[in-house]
Amino acid sequence: MPLVTTTEMFKKAYDGGYAVGAFNVNNMEIVQGITEACQETRSPVILQVSKGARAYANHTYLVKLVEAAMIENPDIPICLHLDHGDSFELCKSCIDGGFTSVMIDMSSKPFEENIAITKQVVEYAHAHGVVVEAELGTLEGVEDEVVVEAGQASYTRPEEVEEFVDKTGCDSLAIAIGTSHGAYKFRPEQCTLNEDGVLVPPPLRFDVLDEVVKRLPGFPIVLHGSSSVPQEFVEMVNKYGGNMPDAIGIPEEQLRQAAKSAVCKINIDSDIRLAMTANIRQHFAEHPEHFDPRQYLKPARAAVKDMVKRKIINVLGSDNKI
Ligand SMILES: [Zn+2]
Repeated sequence: MPLVTTTEMFKKAYDGGYAVGAFNVNNMEIVQGITEACQETRSPVILQVSKGARAYANHTYLVKLVEAAMIENPDIPICLHLDHGDSFELCKSCIDGGFTSVMIDMSSKPFEENIAITKQVVEYAHAHGVVVEAELGTLEGVEDEVVVEAGQASYTRPEEVEEFVDKTGCDSLAIAIGTSHGAYKFRPEQCTLNEDGVLVPPPLRFDVLDEVVKRLPGFPIVLHGSSSVPQEFVEMVNKYGGNMPDAIGIPEEQLRQAAKSAVCKINIDSDIRLAMTANIRQHFAEHPEHFDPRQYLKPARAAVKDMVKRKIINVLGSDNKI
């Protein structure tokens, strides 16, 4: 099937109490690992491209890789989405270039300015059959070129959401309820130790989510920064020469709870990076004589696939939903 927008995907996810995974793609192995996992679990998927990914791999290469994945995995609905568009021009370029969904992220701007630019993108996108995700509230952390310093993040203010959605006409809304970009979502001193000696971060603000849902019944909500940073992969990185002290993510049970609510899209990037890197480090440690990139990229691609399957089954609940 051709690329789809998120309209039908989100309606089914909202009604079915699950979320669709949005995974960032940067190269062929990542596209293959994600889409093979979705094909095997019969899960819809959003492949998202950041400004940084476009700069790294080039727009045309990424679009053609996604087209190839569509041909190889004909059963699964695939949406191609721009992650964190930071200007009308960037969104327009992706809309003109074959994307079926774009995010305009003006969350760091004043409310009225966020509305004005989002509305401009929505008008252009809708005229071209493309849907738009917007954002209210800001997440801490680093994701490609989006950097928000500690202490500068703010939860979404539920009292703003109706006016924002009404005035902009956006199709889905990313909100800030305590998730965060990157592999270092919390400082150890923000966390508590559980009985197994594992650091547990502060819980997500489900009260904020509930208040947003009450004001926007039936409207699809998006969570960014929702990697769990599984500790077994952090330990693997550190064991094989890496240095990632105190990498902490969002517990999968909390994300599972969010996926059952109005949250229809959950963004996961760091966990894929982590799985790939841990695997490549282990491979080099165990096979120092290898120098053919296929020798380490093949297991790295399998690690991406395993991680995406784990997310589909443990977190998203999107298996067998095509
Ligand atoms: Zn994000």
